Amino acid sequence: MPSAQDLADSAAGYLVAVPPVADGVCDLCHGAPNPGYRRCFSCAETSGQVAHPVATVVPISLYQIGGQLHHVLRGYKDSPDYAVRAQFSLIVAALLTRFLWRHGKCLAAAAGESWDLVTTVPSSRDRTLPHPLDRAIQLSTWLRSQSRPVLAKGAGDVRHNQADEGGYVVTQEVRGRQILLLDDTYTTGASLQSAASALAAAGARVVGAVPVGRVINPEFNAQAKSLWGRATAFPFDFERCCVCADG
Ligand SMILES: [Zn+2]
Ligand SMILES: [Zn+2]
Repeated sequence: MPSAQDLADSAAGYLVAVPPVADGVCDLCHGAPNPGYRRCFSCAETSGQVAHPVATVVPISLYQIGGQLHHVLRGYKDSPDYAVRAQFSLIVAALLTRFLWRHGKCLAAAAGESWDLVTTVPSSRDRTLPHPLDRAIQLSTWLRSQSRPVLAKGAGDVRHNQADEGGYVVTQEVRGRQILLLDDTYTTGASLQSAASALAAAGARVVGAVPVGRVINPEFNAQAKSLWGRATAFPFDFERCCVCADG
């Protein structure tokens, strides 16, 4: 059985470094804003639609639809082949473990506080419990020891670019807890912001969020193309994250 480090290393070839916030990098998701804006359109929309949006989002990698990370982030949930789901779940768990172990302190410093509970954003489709990301977390002893599912889908309508206060319900007492939110993918922030706001409304502090992948479409516009070009100019490095103090 390969170690988490080996599994994460095996993925490094298709991971893409997430750039630190700068001109041409969204100040929330680290995607590509339109010219003259600090925040991308989707983040501006979804963070503005809830009362308590999360302010610190630290994706592990950028990815393109159709690329290998996309394949992993879809397949760990949806592959009809059990062996593929199992293998990809191990990769997802290894990436989160390695990244949080190495960069958890960066994230806490960027957010201004640390967390005492890790939880996941339930996937948008109805699924049998536990959710795929919770199952993946169970594969990591270290992550499992600090994690607990505390969210379920609510009646609210969460869609592309549309966050909703009622999108999630909190299923356990979280008052006073400091929470790190994990998700497999960040597209518009609709699910993440809905989940974050539900937790805050229940009395928790949401310290930050770590999506495994932030999707980028380089063909969408010149800004996205430029961001992708800059990000892929260097190999991915597990020693760096988008909020490391030395950038
Ligand atoms: Zn953004
Ligand atoms: Zn870091």
